[in-house]
Amino acid sequence: AKNSGRNRWQLFSPSLHTEILERQTLLQDLRGALTNNELFVVYQPIVELSTRRICKVEALLRWQHKTRGLIGPDVFIPMAEESGLITSLGDFVFKESVKQLSQWRSTVAPELIVSINTSTYQYNESGKYLNHWYQYIEQMEVPFDAIILEITESMLMHQHENVSKQLLTFRDHGIHVALDDFGTGYSSLAYLNQLDIDFIKIDKSFIRDLDTGKSAQDLCEAIISMAHKLGLQVIAEGIETESQLSFLTSFQCDMGQGYLYAKPLPVKELTTLLAEKNI
Ligand code: C2E
Ligand code: CA
Ligand code: CA
Ligand code: CA
Repeated sequence: AKNSGRNRWQLFSPSLHTEILERQTLLQDLRGALTNNELFVVYQPIVELSTRRICKVEALLRWQHKTRGLIGPDVFIPMAEESGLITSLGDFVFKESVKQLSQWRSTVAPELIVSINTSTYQYNESGKYLNHWYQYIEQMEVPFDAIILEITESMLMHQHENVSKQLLTFRDHGIHVALDDFGTGYSSLAYLNQLDIDFIKIDKSFIRDLDTGKSAQDLCEAIISMAHKLGLQVIAEGIETESQLSFLTSFQCDMGQGYLYAKPLPVKELTTLLAEKNI
């Protein structure tokens, strides 16, 4: 169904043929990955800039393939979305990270919040894919407001009605919502107005450019002050340098994440970090 018609002649080029076969094999492997325990979640600290304390963690999915090694989500998430597997992958990430949050909150980090990436394909009209999440959260004895669901603005262009309806229901329960990759889509400002969201995450491309130009600095400053006027908190992603951090601090940015603080970490390492930082 995808790309039919356009560039059809390319199907006969050997390299593309190999590529298609390759993708089919990988997709088949991905179907088995869940049951074979090849998927796991890593967590990247989100730091409150004013205190430098870890206040949240973002859950990021990883795939340890039996022969190919570690495969990144940029490769397999789009495949999962196209094939429909994203529903079960999304459920896996959700359950893993809420269960893990529950453990952390009852041991090393009583106030910790987890932020979970979601794909619009997980949101359907009736909400049937996501309604069991409420029950799971209660079962894990985690408060609803310790959970943030991230959604990218580019994804909102599809399925907008369903997604916004369900996000509202989540918010009624107290679950928070973050607009991810802010600034990279076409109608960021329109979404800010229409959706009832709590956080925006400034895309890392803007943060990277902070070191190289006044215009990126002006842009970030404007985004942050606009967000604050609208009552939203701002998370900057991809902070790699001290100078990026000091720009963001001077612009009153609320939170940040990036290699400057920590890479996404396996449970064990993050547990140690949380215990040391004593949040
Ligand atoms: P994202 O949600 O924008 O996640 C941030 C990405 O930036 C992560 O890549 C993270 O490892 C990376 N990152 C963090 N700090 C830095 C930094 O300082 N510099 C640079 N250059 N990169 C940094 P990752 O883990 O490879 O994830 C890529 C994308 O895959 C995510 O982008 C997200 O869109 C998607 N993804 C990951 N896990 C899930 C999931 O469970 N569900 C869904 N639907 N999507 C996911
Ligand atoms: Ca994200
Ligand atoms: Ca992002
Ligand atoms: Ca992204």
